[in-house]
Amino acid sequence: MPILPIVTFNDAVLREKTKPLTKDYPNLKKLIADMFETMYNSHGVGLAAPQIGLPIQLFTVNADPMFEDDEEDLKMGELVFINPKITSYGDQKIPLEEGCLSIPDVRDRVFRPIEITISYLDANFNEQTMKADGWLSRVIQHEYDHLQGVLFIDYLGSFRKRIIQSKLDSIENGTFLVDYPVVPK
Ligand code: ZN
Repeated sequence: MPILPIVTFNDAVLREKTKPLTKDYPNLKKLIADMFETMYNSHGVGLAAPQIGLPIQLFTVNADPMFEDDEEDLKMGELVFINPKITSYGDQKIPLEEGCLSIPDVRDRVFRPIEITISYLDANFNEQTMKADGWLSRVIQHEYDHLQGVLFIDYLGSFRKRIIQSKLDSIENGTFLVDYPVVPK
């Protein structure tokens, strides 16, 4: 299975409106397997289809590395979200540090709701509803944003943005070194 190159900031596909997936989407099982492999190769915990150049409503998550050994019960393994819709957000928000495979070497704190409820289709197109909190909720919200053309840096204030601007410029110019395959090279 091939590792797919990851589209980096500021490729237009990362800002595109994504299309819902249908069951007859060609080679979907293989695409999902490739997305997991690509995600693991770059040590990511989530990957959205626009990040591999496909403006479709699909993302993969495996947040297990975010948890300690004694948090075994929080580990959900590999999760596939197709045509997802976050149906409710909890009232309480917290800041957590986020990064993004499409914006290498940039990390910053983002305020988001702790708890969400999300409805989606799994890899077999079965309808699912999940309540999530903690790191899993955080990763899901980040990937869900990718399907709306939103990046985590969009939440940063102008001061924080100015601090990371030179890194963003070098990613955009393709002059940034990264140890996994990306577009542009
Ligand atoms: Zn991301």
